[in-house]
Amino acid sequence: MMKLELSVIDRLRKIVGKQDVLDQKEDLIPYSFDGTAALKQHPGCVVFTRTTVQVSEVLKLANDEGIPVVTRGSGTGLSGGSLPSERCIVLCTVKMKQILELDKANLTLLTEPGATTLTIAEAAEKAGLFYPPDPGSMKISTIGGNVAENSGGLRGLKYGVTRNYVMGMEIVLPDGEICWMGNKCVKDVAGYSLKDLFIGSEGTLGVITKVLLRLIPQPQAKKNNGSNI
Ligand SMILES: Cc1cc2nc3c(=O)[nH]c(=O)nc-3n(C[C@H](O)[C@H](O)[C@H](O)COP(=O)(O)OP(=O)(O)OC[C@H]3O[C@@H](n4cnc5c(N)ncnc54)[C@H](O)[C@@H]3O)c2cc1C
Repeated sequence: MMKLELSVIDRLRKIVGKQDVLDQKEDLIPYSFDGTAALKQHPGCVVFTRTTVQVSEVLKLANDEGIPVVTRGSGTGLSGGSLPSERCIVLCTVKMKQILELDKANLTLLTEPGATTLTIAEAAEKAGLFYPPDPGSMKISTIGGNVAENSGGLRGLKYGVTRNYVMGMEIVLPDGEICWMGNKCVKDVAGYSLKDLFIGSEGTLGVITKVLLRLIPQPQAKKNNGSNI
């Protein structure tokens, strides 16, 4: 296991707070693999961010120091996307889990990336609306991970996958710049669809810090087993 210099750990602690940086070997074990399970690698440390500005500061520091960053949601991914590389910073978004807005008039939901898919589906249902993407891991997986993997479950056959429900995103680019892609406008046609480049990019292009999702009206009928049809 290659350790990060203490000066780097100290600077990370100044950004996110002491309690949100893990660097002890035993604390790093749960973050040394993801759902792929076949592969394992201890990171240099794990950092839990709580705000977009913190994400930006962590990426700026990593960029300055030439330290790789691996973004992680709940670590259920099956393609090794959140598997650490040696001496990297694992940037974990699970503490950024607030649903920020549910706009019933425009049928949208704005959330932080660490909210679980189930929380989002339940918030939509409470408002009489429907968020269809249902990866089998939805009780645990985060919406940031869903977007980065373009996840879909069984309902995808009828309703489509995560890409079909992402209207916009706040992203922090690798140099720390914060930017918005997309918006609430259904007829959003001008220019390149940069958000579509980020969907399915497995954390390689930046960190998703907010997601604007499209909701739809609830289906009129439900089967006896409770599933939406
Ligand atoms: C039991 C089980 C059932 C599953 N069922 C399905 C299924 O039905 N359909 C399906 O598609 N998948 C399924 N998966 C795979 C997995 O759950 C999904 O890919 C899920 O979307 C990953 O979410 P996560 O929060 O665990 O992301 P992680 O595993 O933590 O990360 C996945 C990828 O997303 C990136 N990432 C995470 N958060 C961010 C962020 N905020 N910004 C940028 N990049 C980010 C990571 O770098 C990584 O590349 C299943 C997995 C398990 C274990």
